[in-house]
Amino acid sequence: MNIVMFGPPGAGKGSVSAFLVGEFSYPHIAAGDIIREEARKPQNKVRAYMEKGELVPDAVIMQLVGSRLRQPDCGEGFILDGFPRTIVQAEFLERQRIPIDIVINLEVDEDAIVDRLSGRRMDPKTGQIYNLNTMELPEGVDREKLVQRPDDKPEVIRKRIEVYKKQTAPVIEYYRERNVLLNIDGNPELGQVVGSVREALQKVRE
Ligand code: AMP
Repeated sequence: MNIVMFGPPGAGKGSVSAFLVGEFSYPHIAAGDIIREEARKPQNKVRAYMEKGELVPDAVIMQLVGSRLRQPDCGEGFILDGFPRTIVQAEFLERQRIPIDIVINLEVDEDAIVDRLSGRRMDPKTGQIYNLNTMELPEGVDREKLVQRPDDKPEVIRKRIEVYKKQTAPVIEYYRERNVLLNIDGNPELGQVVGSVREALQKVRE
């Protein structure tokens, strides 16, 4: 089963994907992680887009994600997180005959998005994500050592939300027409969202 994890920035796509990986043992392919890895290379062309909160050009991300999806570990299924983010990218998957069986669309209010993104911090050692606004830090985690993603700064957050509304949200309609869209309320705490996703997937598989 090929699953797309969809939603605005900060909707919880990564966190819900982590749950799905446990459930299905499919590879988790996060377009943002691929871009961040690319951005570490010298003279890359993607970092500037990312830091401004803009999407990298379709041709660039399509090439990167396309070659990842052709790896043998994707044969049984995959969890694709953060791609497609434009209609052009959705059409690319279709043209490449990479079928999408389910699109999990996490719907989250704009206020909650800003709250989540501005409080998001990462432990650079473990990669673990925490949120200063919505959760207590577990014991042993040093707040001072956590880092913020450069694109989680307030001005960039606003830009990312604007880009989402303009370029990414139209993809919802694209998948609605193809009858693969599962809308999930992404506002509650993670455990509850995961419960709704599990329930919805069970119905689809029955
Ligand atoms: P994310 O971690 O999913 O929030 O992605 C971080 C950044 O990577 C985005 O703000 C974009 O600059 C870039 N990016 C990720 N996925 C895509 C995509 N599908 N199309 C274009 N740019 C992307």
